[in-house]
Amino acid sequence: MILPSTVPRIIQKLFPRRVWHIETDQKIAYLSFDDGPHERITPMVLQLLKKHGALATFFCIGDRVNKHPECFDLIKQAGHAIGNHTYHHVNGWKTDPERYVEDVREAHALIGSTLFRPPYGRLTSTQFQRLEQEGFKTIMWTILSGDYDRRLRPDQCAKRVVQALQPGAIILFHDSEKAEMNMMVALEKLLEEGISRGYVFKPLHNN
Ligand SMILES: [Zn+2]
Repeated sequence: MILPSTVPRIIQKLFPRRVWHIETDQKIAYLSFDDGPHERITPMVLQLLKKHGALATFFCIGDRVNKHPECFDLIKQAGHAIGNHTYHHVNGWKTDPERYVEDVREAHALIGSTLFRPPYGRLTSTQFQRLEQEGFKTIMWTILSGDYDRRLRPDQCAKRVVQALQPGAIILFHDSEKAEMNMMVALEKLLEEGISRGYVFKPLHNN
């Protein structure tokens, strides 16, 4: 099954303290990239964003930041926001809260951001509360690009995100090998279309 491009309202309402979109009626949207930094793909994304004057948020995996610190620095230097995507890309549903929070802390030591996105979007209520107590803001998404899904062609992936674009939307992409082909096409299309419709792409922040 290919997941729909937008998260159903009912799911958003079930978890109201997780951030699903940013409240605004202005044409502002929030691009986000999970699973990097990737030494080849992340710089390509940065270049594309720069070309269009767009800023984004990169939810980085601690282990990858450790392996590619220079790439992590490039993201920060370009003015983008950074977020925590755990150290080992752990699945919340399969990890006890203690170990889960410890993994996020381990990533925090390297990443230093209180914006948090759970891998696979999977987080138990206990894990969520523990992280909230530690000052982390859990950021979900409004639009799932599906860039990682091999059943989608690049043009289909592009169409999904462009059609779903709305004020305050948080759009989920991946700067990863699995997503690269779809992501690069869909991102460029979204930037072109979005900007022509008057949208500005901004980074997320925790306040
Ligand atoms: Zn991920």
